[in-house]
Amino acid sequence: MHHFSYKHGQLHAEDVPLSQIAEQVGTPTYVYSQATLERHYRAFSEAFGGLDTLICFAVKANSNRAVINTLAAQGAGADIVSGGELTRSLAAGVPAERIVYSGVGKTVAEMEQALDAGILMFNLESAQELEVLNQVAGRLGVKAPVSLRVNPDVDAQTHPKITTGLAKNKFGLDMELAFGKYQEAAKLDHVELKGISCHIGSQLTKVEPFADALERVAVLIGRLKGAGIELSLLDLGGGLGINYNDEQPPSPAQYAEALTERIGSLGLKLVLEPGRAIVGNAGVLVAKVLFTKDTPAKHFIVSDAAMNDLVRPAMYDSFHAILPVMEDPSRPKVVADVVGPICETGDFLARDREMPDLERGEFLAALSAGAYGFSMASTYNSRPRAAEVLVNGDRWSVVRTRETVEELMRGESLPEWME
Ligand SMILES: *Cc1c(COP(=O)(O)O)cnc(C)c1O
Repeated sequence: MHHFSYKHGQLHAEDVPLSQIAEQVGTPTYVYSQATLERHYRAFSEAFGGLDTLICFAVKANSNRAVINTLAAQGAGADIVSGGELTRSLAAGVPAERIVYSGVGKTVAEMEQALDAGILMFNLESAQELEVLNQVAGRLGVKAPVSLRVNPDVDAQTHPKITTGLAKNKFGLDMELAFGKYQEAAKLDHVELKGISCHIGSQLTKVEPFADALERVAVLIGRLKGAGIELSLLDLGGGLGINYNDEQPPSPAQYAEALTERIGSLGLKLVLEPGRAIVGNAGVLVAKVLFTKDTPAKHFIVSDAAMNDLVRPAMYDSFHAILPVMEDPSRPKVVADVVGPICETGDFLARDREMPDLERGEFLAALSAGAYGFSMASTYNSRPRAAEVLVNGDRWSVVRTRETVEELMRGESLPEWME
């Protein structure tokens, strides 16, 4: 459920007409609904209410500080994958003891930063990473809280580019190897074994792969216990899918129902790292139709938002519903490609889509753009990144100003021999 709907013939974010934002802030602009963010967070926290659970929002899905702040105020922690995300999360008010650090390639500087901050846990993905973190922690005179991320080798049944828990993926440690690594880690002086983690992929629309992964991890937890290694945290990652088009992903409640009993039997504190499920349907990308054009093969709608603003269609062939901001049920439907101004054939927001025949100058909204939207934006074609707006009831505020071309060129200079 989200709070974007037509009222009085106009698409609104909560009680604010999107046209009002588009006219004042310009386009393209990301618009987030605070009520939706809070609602989605609560859906998780209530679903897992029967267990001791920490919900760490996956900051890479949407790194805007106002978004992180909204969730932090609800009690969320953060799942981070870089020093930059650590800085943002702390700045947005996430307490360090609610931050878990994932990712396959942490630098020494990032390890130091996170140890200094005092985060809850590092999720480690390789033997070398464990060795290096042990050294870094030793140098700083602290113990690094760690979990090993295991790769349970289950098929998440999602898009191949967002599957992470198969043996051939770069993520995590092989289950068999992990057992040995835990035993080695237990002997290290500057590491404290806290937990075990896995994350099998994103946009999962079934609970079975989660349950399979949990079962495999549970077996390893049992083996570790038998070997005298007691853990306190079980991090099951993120990955719960959302409805973009006609998917029917499990709700957080159904997801919790499928897992709660097994998790409860393990007696560990649960950590979850949802990203998309919290923020995906809490944001839209508002754009303007620059032109329409017909070729013998197709009808094109050229929008001022492009793949640099929202790369998911180009990168994952993903579906975003495209709606006119002004509703007009009487207008004819066409089959169109909605494309951006970028000089790439892959630059599209929708392809062969049956949709209302949008006209030059009007506003459109690409729905479900709150996750992996702005956070994956680039400045390709020297296009400054979009503005971001947060709506709360009938109030709204720009939470990131539109980037300028001057900002894009900042830091560039000519070598002395060209001056
Ligand atoms: C990307 C990622 C997440 C969030 O995934 P969603 O599908 O957005 O929920 C959580 N944990 C890890 C380790 C990730 O890489």
